Amino acid sequence: MVKHISILGSTGSIGSSALEVISLFPDRFKVVGLTACENIDKIEMQIRRFKPSIVSLANEKSAKKLKERCGNLNIEVFSGMEGLIRVSTLPEADIIVSAIAGSAGLIPTFSGVKAGKTIALANKETMVMAGEIITQEANKRGIRILPMDSEHSAIFQVMNGGRWEEVHKIILTASGGPFLKTSSEERKRATVEDALRHPNWNMGTKITIDSATLMNKGLEVIEARWLFDVSINQIEVLIHPQSIVHSMVEFRDGSVIAQMGVPDMRIPIAYALSYTERLDLIMPRLDLASVGMLTFEKPDMKKFPCLSHAYDAIREGGTLPAVLNSSNEVAVRAFLQRRIGFLDIEAIVRETMERHKVRHIDTIEDVLVADNWAREEAERVVSKIG
Ligand code: NDP
Repeated sequence: MVKHISILGSTGSIGSSALEVISLFPDRFKVVGLTACENIDKIEMQIRRFKPSIVSLANEKSAKKLKERCGNLNIEVFSGMEGLIRVSTLPEADIIVSAIAGSAGLIPTFSGVKAGKTIALANKETMVMAGEIITQEANKRGIRILPMDSEHSAIFQVMNGGRWEEVHKIILTASGGPFLKTSSEERKRATVEDALRHPNWNMGTKITIDSATLMNKGLEVIEARWLFDVSINQIEVLIHPQSIVHSMVEFRDGSVIAQMGVPDMRIPIAYALSYTERLDLIMPRLDLASVGMLTFEKPDMKKFPCLSHAYDAIREGGTLPAVLNSSNEVAVRAFLQRRIGFLDIEAIVRETMERHKVRHIDTIEDVLVADNWAREEAERVVSKIG
């Protein structure tokens, strides 16, 4: 059976890799919907190649421009949140690839869940902000959220041969990013270019900065807590600079099972799209003899306090993880705009979290209120520092 796929964020790093995988298996997958923020040139190329029936851009002006360019094609073009929701709830879509960067992915992903779609999830921010609500809704409707993040895909793959009641803990690996071995003086002076120089992975800018602060691992810890319904005390992080072991599960008898592979997102993307089968992917194979050595070490939480903030946020719960996520988004954007230094990112997140009065989350609106508050508060801290 051909799977019909909508991709939220098709012009990004994950979205483009997903289309690359899809293009290799035209008898298995058909693209029905695509979205982008404003990269009209790239989405136009994707439209001409994959022929979706509906696309959406972030604003009306870009959508109008795209409509003019695609006038000869049989396609509907929408914009804004309405457009994102149309794509994520499209009746003919079986799978929604959630690959928008940041909290802009929350509502369309949630809408996809409510519409009963299988979600192939890359957008971890959605789980960080509203993991409890999203997983409850998915369980209620009996739909699957399939992880695309390489670490969560690794755990998911390992657990295809294991039982959750026998799990002692899960171990998420982290490359450590470009600043693993740098001094605090070097990190203080780090430029945007330094922080974007990831040693192993080629990704979008936001997640690359998150990898340099280790916030990315913190977000993944929270994502794992909800995706796999495990206690936070059962989630450990290990630094593994080679990025060959993508994560591990330790069982109650002491056995540890790891998933390994070359660091290439097409592998977890293909696994989520084709689940429950594995596809014949033609790509460089893992050559352990030439890798030679795999090393592991504990993360230094003092050097990378963002990881510790993420543990604090999920332990406290309620609105605090959403505040962590939103203040981090504001701080990362300010760093990319060169308004603050690299080490200020952590300080902005910490200060915003400290100022927040934590509330219980009952609905998705509670998350949006916390998101709004955190953005305004974090902006204030940025202005003060900047
Ligand atoms: P990119 O920045 O490369 O791509 C982001 C995509 O989202 C683009 O299509 C962009 O459109 C679109 N977008 C951005 N902002 C908005 C908005 N406000 N409204 C609508 N669309 C928007 O990000 P990545 O592909 O790297 O990451 C996507 C998600 O996947 C993130 O949550 C990330 O954490 C996660 N992830 C990424 C991995 C990777 O290897 N890259 C690995 C694991 C998880 P446009 O191109 O027009 O700007």
